Amino acid sequence: VYQQFPDPYRVIVGREDFAEVADQIAGSAVLITDEFLASEAIFSDLIDSPVLTIPVGEPDVETVDRLASRLPLDATLVAVGGGSVIDAVKLAAAAATTGDPVRTFLAGAGEPHNQLSVIAVPTSSGTGSEVTRTAIVSDNGVKTWAWGQALRPDLVLLEPELTVSCPPGLTAGAGIDALVHAIEACSGQAAIEAVQAVGSEAVDLIFTNLAATVQDGEVLEARTATQRAATLAGIAIDQSNTGLAHAIGHALSTLYGVPHGISVGIALHATIEWSMAGDPTRYSGLTESPQTLLSRIDHLFADIDFYAHAAPFFPRDLDPVRLAATMTSGENLPMCHNNSRVPGDSDFMGLSELTCDNWDVANS
Ligand SMILES: [Zn+2]
Repeated sequence: VYQQFPDPYRVIVGREDFAEVADQIAGSAVLITDEFLASEAIFSDLIDSPVLTIPVGEPDVETVDRLASRLPLDATLVAVGGGSVIDAVKLAAAAATTGDPVRTFLAGAGEPHNQLSVIAVPTSSGTGSEVTRTAIVSDNGVKTWAWGQALRPDLVLLEPELTVSCPPGLTAGAGIDALVHAIEACSGQAAIEAVQAVGSEAVDLIFTNLAATVQDGEVLEARTATQRAATLAGIAIDQSNTGLAHAIGHALSTLYGVPHGISVGIALHATIEWSMAGDPTRYSGLTESPQTLLSRIDHLFADIDFYAHAAPFFPRDLDPVRLAATMTSGENLPMCHNNSRVPGDSDFMGLSELTCDNWDVANS
């Protein structure tokens, strides 16, 4: 299924199959992870190589440029971590290749180039960064992005055991991010038929396995299914992009520092009925009926205690005027325009209020 697109995704499942690759790159590999994961023993037997660390959390341009300056230009980079680490490595590889700061190719300012090999090894299941041509970074506190073929990792290793230490809150947020990816890619303006197949499988895997994964992270079968779902959903957005919940989610992250999976989950839950009202048939391929999709989302959010995981990251009061302004700023508007129902100028304030109300209700 990873092979059905014009430019196939190279995905290896399981560390035994990865061993051969590890042998080939021994000597030239540099492993990059964050300061928290570096202290974990989970991947020490993955590959024998020097380790570079970056700070924990979603990367900013300073972190990326600093990492770029430390990369040997003939290395194979093995990015081990959540979406933040993988994004940082994708961006740093491109910045290192030309020697230019990462800002030169953010938000469409230029095209990234990359001569370094990048292998992505995700330790959380959600962002899909391991298979996408995009990366997210904050620039002076504003959540922004880069896009280009050069950013897509050359190879992915999926090893479910590496996700076992991912804590319940992070597992919940990441899994919901993957769900939002599948829904937005399959219903959006750029949706194509091949994406329906991977997206609907991802949605099904998440509805069936995410709650078990959050409730007991040691269940390897559920971890394996959730990891597969995240990568499939990543392929879906790599082909067909995200929508409104991502525009609102990025705005919530910019304004209030809310982690990605939490912010897009709140935004999706608040606005999906509005989006679906445009043309419900855009969602028909995902579940038996659009109505089933809505009720399964409600059940999943309850089963994984989504709002309890979200609460620590949310301010008491959201400002709907600022939220509406930020979701329509230059870096977020393209996602609004790819939504299944494209909002007009007069819709943004109402969508912002739906999001703020959803938060108030969850919090009351
Ligand atoms: Zn996302």
